[in-house]
Amino acid sequence: MGVVMIKSPETGRTISTGMKADRERFRCSPVFFARTFCLICEASHEWFAKEAWVHEPDENRHRPRAALAPQPA
Ligand SMILES: [Zn+2]
Repeated sequence: MGVVMIKSPETGRTISTGMKADRERFRCSPVFFARTFCLICEASHEWFAKEAWVHEPDENRHRPRAALAPQPA
């Protein structure tokens, strides 16, 4: 899971929409329209899904699931 990010059209800065999404699912999701309040501009920006992307902080690490598997007794 990651956070959906957009670029502020006013400043060009990357801002978080606060939405959490899975990258693959987000990419396959139908086109939608959303509005996010930008703290930099102190205004709401409207954006389309195709302009957004999912930022996953842990994408370069191995998934920890295997390490969390119960050890055989
Ligand atoms: Zn902005």
